[in-house]
Amino acid sequence: MEKKKITAIVLAAGKGNRMNTPVAKQFLILRDKPVLYYSLKAFEDSSVDEIILVTGSDQKEYCINNIIQPYQLNKVTQIVEGGKERYDSVYQALLHIEETDYVLIHDGARPFITKEFIEEMISQVIDHNACIFGTPVKETVKTVDSNRYITSTPNRNTMWLAQTPQAFSFEAIKKAYTIFYKENNKNQVAITDDAMVYETYLGKPVKMIPGDYRNIKITTPEDLTIAEAFLNKELSE
Ligand code: C5P
Repeated sequence: MEKKKITAIVLAAGKGNRMNTPVAKQFLILRDKPVLYYSLKAFEDSSVDEIILVTGSDQKEYCINNIIQPYQLNKVTQIVEGGKERYDSVYQALLHIEETDYVLIHDGARPFITKEFIEEMISQVIDHNACIFGTPVKETVKTVDSNRYITSTPNRNTMWLAQTPQAFSFEAIKKAYTIFYKENNKNQVAITDDAMVYETYLGKPVKMIPGDYRNIKITTPEDLTIAEAFLNKELSE
């Protein structure tokens, strides 16, 4: 089979308001290195062909001087300026890709993605065209109204938490995002991941691939404590 070109998009343009720190979560230091380093390194060591890093215009220098150059992350071919919302950042990256077969879109705030899971995602997207990592929920999920009264309890067996990477055929996800922007109804639907754009605007199936419970997104301060514990465990193994 002819070799497919694989592009990773790593998102690091968020401001991280839920962390309550002046530094965005993807740049907090985790065992001497910025959180963002860990996922970039996993993609660097994997078989992806290129990495597009999306970050803020004022964070570009920091990324080059503190992450890309010192750790020789040579697969980072472009640094693209992100947008207001996560989906704006993804769209900017998609617009900067000239040609590729598949894209893996990853949150730079998820440092525990591994080379092995990246390889798994690449083989799954070639089979399914659109797939994401996720984990079955462990707790019961409730939906609530604006007064926080419970409105429903979905069957737990059907509930999964979505993670990244999320992988798609490049043409298909670009088309989905183009329709989303054209319909200009961004303000009515809260788009929180890429699969949602694909499901909603292309109406095609997305396969859920069992991921890793350790692949957490550093979002609130307690996540850093958990992340340190994971790293300590890895070192002692
Ligand atoms: O805010 P959220 O937790 O959804 O962010 C997930 C990832 O998307 C983070 O790595 C963050 O840096 C990135 N992001 C972005 N551009 C934004 C918002 C978030 O690249 N405007």
